[in-house]
Amino acid sequence: MKRVYNFSPGPAALPQEVIKQAAEEMTNWRGSGLSVMEMSHRGREFTEILATTKADLRSLLSIPDNYKVLLMQGGAIAENAIVPMNLVGHKAQPATIDFVNTGHWSSKTIEEAHKYAKVNVAASSEDKGFTYVPARDTWKLTPDAAYVHICTNETIGGVEFDFTPDVGNVPLVADMSSNILSREIDISKYAVIYAGAQKNIGPAGVTIVIVRDDMLGHALPICPSAFDWQQVAEHDSMFNTPPTYPIYIAGLTFQWMKRQGGVAAMEQVNIAKAKLMYDYLDSTGFYLNNVPAANRSRMNVPFFLKDESLNSKFIAEADQQGLVQLKGHSSVGGMRASIYNAMPMEGVQALVAFMKDFEKKYG
Ligand code: PLP
Repeated sequence: MKRVYNFSPGPAALPQEVIKQAAEEMTNWRGSGLSVMEMSHRGREFTEILATTKADLRSLLSIPDNYKVLLMQGGAIAENAIVPMNLVGHKAQPATIDFVNTGHWSSKTIEEAHKYAKVNVAASSEDKGFTYVPARDTWKLTPDAAYVHICTNETIGGVEFDFTPDVGNVPLVADMSSNILSREIDISKYAVIYAGAQKNIGPAGVTIVIVRDDMLGHALPICPSAFDWQQVAEHDSMFNTPPTYPIYIAGLTFQWMKRQGGVAAMEQVNIAKAKLMYDYLDSTGFYLNNVPAANRSRMNVPFFLKDESLNSKFIAEADQQGLVQLKGHSSVGGMRASIYNAMPMEGVQALVAFMKDFEKKYG
């Protein structure tokens, strides 16, 4: 079968070993005579998958004991409502939430929060088209905020936090949908981390929520029980039927990551892949990336052809070479190479070689 290098922002490429294993186990999971897709979530087989998947995530991210790992549904977009419904209740109403707006996904989070709280945009990079992360000393935080929200990697703009902000005693909440497990992080600096699966984890359909124990038990009365973290935690992520198949694939990805040497080893490869891309982009005037070096995303590399009339030729010729899904998001245009954990170094080398040839041909 012909495999291509898939630079999609998500649902994104999965490790080939994971896809192969899942294909083999699709009809007969480890001799059980069952496909994972048709297993009862309360049966012995799936209970084992769930427990191993959570334990592996805990060990990969060194999650402290005073945090729960929840496997939920609804994606990061649903968390935009679920997070305030669970957290504003620990303050007198109406509470204020502080946000740092670094682009498309932060903006969506802010928009939704208006339904549940007063919103303070403590810092924003809108003045420069969301191309940077505002320095911590410029943030205008509310002393008594319910929490501070950041998006650690803006998937569309290709802007990534290169620091974990100190926000004192106010809980720090992060949308890590597009960079979780790509770099080492100190979980204890965060009160809540959430992430959709379809970039670094597995197929769309499961949402990872890592929540500190003291953040549980504050849900507003209007919060649906299935989205109340306390309820989800008490039922070991089985308050309702969990998305069994995405959880199973996430488990295979976590095992694959452990075989690669864990998050520290993935981070080194991610640094090397991103360096190859950005070094080349900086060496030529044919392509442009307008994010300052410190805030360039290691996961999503947007770039523009100086001569935009060549855009469709670039996409068509890349496709012919088996380099697919490179078109940038419609709101920014240009190109974007998403190079998550599952993208091998060879894929980035092939892309850079193609970009050089394309430059020679049309430059
Ligand atoms: N947040 C970030 C950083 C994302 O990249 C995405 C999706 O790509 C989302 C939120 C939305 O996730 P979902 O569509 O799974 O709800």
